[in-house]
Parts: sequence; structure tokens; C-alpha cells
Amino acid sequence: MAATLPLRRVGMFGGAFDPPHWAHRALAETALGQLELDALHILPTGHAWHKSRVLSPAHDRVKMCELAFGDLPRAQLDQREIHREGPSYTADTLRELKREYPQAQLFLVLGADQLLAFKTWVRWQEVLELATLAVANRATNIGADIPLDQASETDLSGVDLPFVRLDMPLKNISATAVRARVGQAAQSAGALDVLVPEPVARYISQHHLYQSPT
Ligand code: ATP
Repeated sequence: MAATLPLRRVGMFGGAFDPPHWAHRALAETALGQLELDALHILPTGHAWHKSRVLSPAHDRVKMCELAFGDLPRAQLDQREIHREGPSYTADTLRELKREYPQAQLFLVLGADQLLAFKTWVRWQEVLELATLAVANRATNIGADIPLDQASETDLSGVDLPFVRLDMPLKNISATAVRARVGQAAQSAGALDVLVPEPVARYISQHHLYQSPT
């Protein structure tokens, strides 16, 4: 039997994914292509220590991730952070991935807003030792749901951290904007298609998610 080659380049992409939207999907696709990843783990967060609002139930976010990313080759949904007891930290997940892929270079895929907040993360130095940060730019006024031509890029020039840039066109979409739009009266699932993949829009509508403002 032929020996399987060890995976060499493995990415991790974490998020609340409440819900997953087109920018998440573009970010995953860009990372897979540009970083030539053998595998990309998509990790919905469990207890998101840095988010103040209560997240939608994990099973809904997992299901929506399946719908949003399921057809991306080499992307795999990874539920370990959801099943972890207590708060979940990226450093712990990367440590586990390092054990699972001892020979691989690990990449942590994130948006510019998360890079700016990176030094508030628990054990961020350990994260840097374990993985290469791969960062996509993001409009400064995230969540505002304004037209792209009025959005400007996040300025990363002052960031004193090593990272590689992901070459993704700016997408002014946030989960906050998606939730706000669903909450507006008389929105059909179709109207959400510009923000989220159609199966995700249908799931949101069928399960009556985001009906009240958060
Ligand atoms: P919320 O609006 O609820 O804060 P969000 O849209 O930022 O959510 P998350 O699930 O928190 O979505 O984000 C997961 C990852 O995707 C983060 O690294 C975030 O920076 C990145 N990301 C989200 N939206 C974009 C975007 N429009 N452009 C680039 N990166 C993005």
C-alpha cells in the first residue's frame, strides 16, 4: 500500500459565522488558492470570549457553515472549538493542529479587524510561533452595510506583526449587517442573496433566525 504524503500547508479559519456570508466564503477560497493549502479547517467558535453578544446556537451555525463552505474542495468543517469545555483559544487549536500535522506549515486566516485586535488575544505570542498570519483587508466601517465605493480599507501600515496579505477584493459585508437586514420587516430570503449564499439565506428564513435585533 502506498504511503500517504503528509499534508504540507494547512490553514485554520475561525469565526462566529453567525451567519457565514460571502466575504467569509471569498476569504476561504482566496486562502485555499493563494496559500496553496492542502487543507483548510473552518472552525465555528464555541464560547466566543471576545464577543459580547450571545451567539446563535452552535448547531445552527454549524449547519450554515456546511451550507456555505461544503462544496469548497479541501475545506473541512472542524467542530472542536464548539465541543471544547470552557473558553476556546486559538493558541490551543493551533497546538492541536500542530500535533495532527507535525510536518505542515500552519496558516491562520483572518480579516484586518482581527489583525488589529491580535495583541489582545490570549497567548498571541504562541499563536505567532505556531502559525503564519494570512490577512485579508476589510472595510473600516464594518457592519455599516454601506456601498463599497464609500468604504475605505483598514490601514495596516502601523501593524508590527509578521503577516502575509491575502489578495482579496474588499467586501463590505459583515454578519452584523446580515442580522440587521433580516431583522428589517418584509425582507424576503431572496433579498439576502447579495450578502450570504442562497442556501444560508433559506436556512435563516426557515429557522426564523435573527428576528429580533441583537
Ligand atoms: P460580526 O459582524 O458578527 O462581528 P463578522 O462579519 O466579523 O461578524 P466573524 O465570524 O466574526 O464575522 O469573522 C470571522 C473572520 O472573518 C474574522 O477573521 C473576520 O475578520 C473575517 N471577516 C469577516 N468579514 C470579513 C470581510 N468583509 N472582509 C474580510 N474579512 C472578513
